This record gives sequence, C-alpha cells and structure tokens, in this order.
Amino acid sequence: MRGFFEGLAEFSVLLAILYAVTVAVYFTLGYGITWLNNRNPERRIQKNRRGEKRKAAEIRLSLASILVTCTSVAIGLFAQYKGWTMQPWEFSWWTAAPLFLLCMVLFDAWFYFAHRLLHTKYFYKYHIEHHRSVAPTVWSNDSIGLVDTALSQGFYAVIVFIVPFSPVILLANRLFDQINGTFGHAGFEYFASRTARHPSPMLCTTYHDQHHAEFKYNFANYFSFWDRMMGTISPVYDRRVEVFEKDAPPLSLKLDRQVPEKSKA
Ligand SMILES: [Zn+2]
Ligand SMILES: [Zn+2]
Repeated sequence: MRGFFEGLAEFSVLLAILYAVTVAVYFTLGYGITWLNNRNPERRIQKNRRGEKRKAAEIRLSLASILVTCTSVAIGLFAQYKGWTMQPWEFSWWTAAPLFLLCMVLFDAWFYFAHRLLHTKYFYKYHIEHHRSVAPTVWSNDSIGLVDTALSQGFYAVIVFIVPFSPVILLANRLFDQINGTFGHAGFEYFASRTARHPSPMLCTTYHDQHHAEFKYNFANYFSFWDRMMGTISPVYDRRVEVFEKDAPPLSLKLDRQVPEKSKA
C-alpha cells in the first residue's frame, strides 16, 4: 500500500510539472503571436470574422483540457519509468532527428483518425466545443472538450507500449505540437510557401483554419498526406496557399498606428 501512495505522489509531481510548463508555454505563445498578429493585420485569414471575442471562454476551457493532455503524457512517462513498458531506446543525437520525425508521423496518423472519429454522428458531441471557434485564435488550440482531448492526445499514454521512444523524443514532440498547434490556430498566415502546398506533404496555418471555417476538410495535424490520400483535403487549399504566397505583404515587426485594423474592417 505504501508503494501505491509513493507512486501516486511521484505521478502527481510529474503531472504538476508538465501542467505548469504547458500552461506557461500556452500563455507565452498566445501573447507572443498576438504581438506579431497586431503588427501584421493584412495576414488575417478570415478577414470578416473576429475570433478574439471568444478569448475568455477559450482560455477557460484550455486550462482544463491542458490537464487532460498532460495526464496522457504523464501516464506514458510514468509507465516507462516504472518499467511497465518496453525499455525505452536510449537518447542519442545521431538518432534524434529520424525518431522525432517518426514520432511526428505516428502522432499525425493517430490524430487524423481520432479526429475523423470525432466528426462522426456519435462522437461529434464531444468535439463541438472546439468547433465553437469558427475563426480560430492563438487561444483555440487547447480549447477542446475533455473527452475529445483524451482521444486526440491519448497518443502519449498508448505509444510507449508500442514504440519505445525515449522520454526526450516524446517531450520534444509534445512541445513541438504545442507550438505548431498555436501557430496553426493563430488565424494569421506566416507560412504560406511552396513547401506548404502540393506536392509537399507540409502545410501552413490556412490548413487547419479551413477546417474550422469549412468544417468538412483538413483533419490532419502536421502533414497533408492523410487528407490527400483519403480525399478529405479542401479542394481550394493549394490555391489559397498560392494566393497568400503572392499577396502577403512583407513581415512587419512594427505597429502601424496610422492604419489600425478596425478602421478598415
Ligand atoms: Zn474538427
Ligand atoms: Zn482546431
């Protein structure tokens, strides 16, 4: 019994650290990207919508959902630590890049099919909260229902039993997903380029923004290949990236006080 309580205490400390760091990253990215967005109003993807008005609701739900995400990560790491899984591969810089990529590819596949499931008749009720944000913002990435989060982020609690990734690779992926997801929901496009459209498997912010605005396309997280293969990619995605690529003004780091965005809307 003593062992059980010791284990529980260790797990709680691990979870508390993961949660504190993730919340800190959430706010740092949120305010940092908002700073950038304010300086680049022409890069707004949905020109006529202001998703920012849902900020308070999105932050509230995110603080709960991040706890579910961190619980999944904590379960995975704790299971490894206790020796309940295969012995994790030792971390080395030589294999770090290919294993990180493999982890991304596996996470993307997990996410795609979990997300397709969440759009079915029975499961959509768990996913509806995330889709209240029609024009996503930097605060939307984690504004997800709790069952929904458990499904889409449950990857970390499961993958440790299938592929013995080292904790460093798992944590690096979690951090990268947090950064990628916040940019992916930012509502402003900074990554439109040839590398974000066909035939490249990579994507830019417009991809998931379209998922929120048009609802039935673009389910994947990191790469477009599942959507291309399953026929769920938006038919206008590649074209929209191309247009953004040509029309976007140069990146600005200065606030243009002469032309505040609101006066133009
Ligand atoms: Zn969805
Ligand atoms: Zn989303």
